[in-house]
Amino acid sequence: MSNVEKIIKQRIAQHGPMSLAEYMSLALCHPKYGYYITRDPLGVDGDFTTAPEISQIFGELVAVWIIDKWKNIGSPESFSLVECGPGRGTLMSDILRVVSKIPEFVSAVNVHMIEASPVLIEKQKEALLNYKDINWHYDFSEIPSDKPAIVIGNEFFDALPLEQLVKIKDKWVQKVVSINEKAEFGYGLREMPPGFDLKNIKAEEEDVYEISPVRISYMRNICDLIKENRGAALFIDYGYFRSSVGDTMQGVKGHEYVDILSNVGEADITSHVDFEVLAKVAADVGIDDISLMTQRDFLLSLGLKERAAALMAIADEEQQNDMVAAVKRLSGKDKSDMGELFKVIEVIS
Ligand code: SAH
Repeated sequence: MSNVEKIIKQRIAQHGPMSLAEYMSLALCHPKYGYYITRDPLGVDGDFTTAPEISQIFGELVAVWIIDKWKNIGSPESFSLVECGPGRGTLMSDILRVVSKIPEFVSAVNVHMIEASPVLIEKQKEALLNYKDINWHYDFSEIPSDKPAIVIGNEFFDALPLEQLVKIKDKWVQKVVSINEKAEFGYGLREMPPGFDLKNIKAEEEDVYEISPVRISYMRNICDLIKENRGAALFIDYGYFRSSVGDTMQGVKGHEYVDILSNVGEADITSHVDFEVLAKVAADVGIDDISLMTQRDFLLSLGLKERAAALMAIADEEQQNDMVAAVKRLSGKDKSDMGELFKVIEVIS
């Protein structure tokens, strides 16, 4: 049994069943034994592969988006470029390579990385060795509150803790993690805590509705900052445009799905992101320039095909084949591709 599994079971034995969000938060980010805290989970030999790890084109196109938004907000002479959950630092390194060609941008930008994992912070430092003045933080609250900001995150929101509420006999109740007399994990239900408003959610008996208070408050803090000082935010994740019922929590280990109550602290746990809720948070803050789109449309609009063609022209045959596969993986419509499964929210203020 892993250390984090022991800790979770002890807490349940002492205090009773635990909410899914608390379980997820401990399994992933327990300060000593959490999944992200103890490893680099990315890549072929890890548990999952993300878009920036598939091809440099992804980061280059995000750089084009960032430069465009910086211009949109009046090319401020000093601003924060913030990445939430930067993994191995690959995305930021591809971005900085592109923007380094624009001296005004280079002198204006202050880079901030928000990362919980000491192992990944080390990887990010290696990836960004050539760049000076990069700041690391554990939380968004540490970002300067008096400057314009461009905030990005790829596969960050899906890793934040999530609650599940279940409709039983016309009432919403909360799903919790419990243990039996043999100390084995299972699920239970308890009365819904205050603060959730599910009046408008249409659901049948036993339907599951997912909500992530942590994600909502993260989005609210980002939107408050850019509403106050100008800025933009870009978040890319797998998820859905419209809030709906359904259990999307999944464990992933070695590129295979696993039960979220197994391999505790040794497997990733994520959920699909509800982009309608994110858009609503931005609207509530008073931002009116909000767009939702698929990753496919996002990348194509920024010139995916043209950039791939330019790289292909100087590549050997093997590299060309890799490029074709990467473009398909990033923008294709098949189930195994990211093009339509992944969604994008852009907000500009
Ligand atoms: N953006 C990267 C990595 C995605 S994996 C990529 O696309 O490759 C999720 C990332 O979020 C990891 O870097 C993980 O350590 C980080 N993370 C997860 N929960 C976090 C939290 N609560 N605060 C800060 N970083 C977190």
